[in-house]
Amino acid sequence: MTARGEFGIIELFRREAAPTRPEVSAGIGDDCAVIDLPGDQCLLVSTDMLLEDVHFLRAAVSPWRLGWKTLAVNVSDVAAMGGEPTAAFLAMGFPRDVDEPTLVAFRDGLLACARRFGVDLLGGDTVASPHGISLCVTILGRAPRADVLRRSGGRPGDVLFVGGDIGASAAGLHLLLHPDLEVDDADREALLAAHLEPVPQVTLGRFLASHHLAHAAIDVSDGVLQDLGHLAEESGLGLEVEADRLPVSPACRRVAERAGLDPVDLALTGGEDYVLAFAVPPEVAEALPAACLAATGCHVTAVGRLVPGDGRRILRAGAWMDGVGGGYDHFAP
Ligand code: ADP
Ligand code: MG
Repeated sequence: MTARGEFGIIELFRREAAPTRPEVSAGIGDDCAVIDLPGDQCLLVSTDMLLEDVHFLRAAVSPWRLGWKTLAVNVSDVAAMGGEPTAAFLAMGFPRDVDEPTLVAFRDGLLACARRFGVDLLGGDTVASPHGISLCVTILGRAPRADVLRRSGGRPGDVLFVGGDIGASAAGLHLLLHPDLEVDDADREALLAAHLEPVPQVTLGRFLASHHLAHAAIDVSDGVLQDLGHLAEESGLGLEVEADRLPVSPACRRVAERAGLDPVDLALTGGEDYVLAFAVPPEVAEALPAACLAATGCHVTAVGRLVPGDGRRILRAGAWMDGVGGGYDHFAP
């Protein structure tokens, strides 16, 4: 079973679960399902789970930040569709002996993220968990149907962009796991914040969608190479990534150097960046960085292109390499 990997397991379900209802315009396979509403709007729905010892270590994250991240990773999936998040449902399992200050701090972090993005917490479920903390949010959002950004909309020749920086979250995780590594205090705090308090790019997603600037988008949760691979695959295309162009922050580069890690590897396969990656027609690409910066305050960087076929290549240090593999897979063999 495990040899199939996470995405092979999802495929087991997807191939037997083709949607039957006419209002469903996207089911399994995108960042959110898309359900048409009467009028020109559609409903976006996604769910993401955080498990203790898989996604976080209880001793290494404050309950406030855990609450923030639990919602933020879901908000990011709505951002990837170009949508506006609206409502969330929270299913949570905490150990029976959890104390009230922990729950209050967790609640406050989650609700701070909810307020920041205009999300109402409308329901959920609460259980005692015998095996650690388990958190699952279902998020709802909406967008005009004509604006929705799908993973599958990419076209050959589209330029692939990334919003913000990548690699910082993976560097922050490294610092959590190696707290004795001597690094600059400001670098440590910036990288820990990238890992524990990600800020999903809702404004960027809405800007791209409402101006019809991108053909396809995804959020970077499992590593930019893997996630761009999902976008390319759903678009029926191959991809080329120029590793030297990946936007890696100076703090991430400094800490990677300290830790003996390659910052480009962190950026390519580290994951949990919760930034957007998207495909833009070439005629839009040149003007896009300035337009995004002016409209959203977010810098975006061209990192590659979609190409015909199903190949995946990375340009590193002047040489093209096979770009398959890397990134996070819960059921990796
Ligand atoms: P994301 O990283 O954006 O959350 P995933 O890679 O986790 O997306 O999932 C890929 C797709 O598979 C999504 O459309 C998701 O809704 C779907 N999916 C994942 N697990 C299941 C499952 N157990 N049953 C049905 N669909 C699933
Ligand atoms: Mg996603």
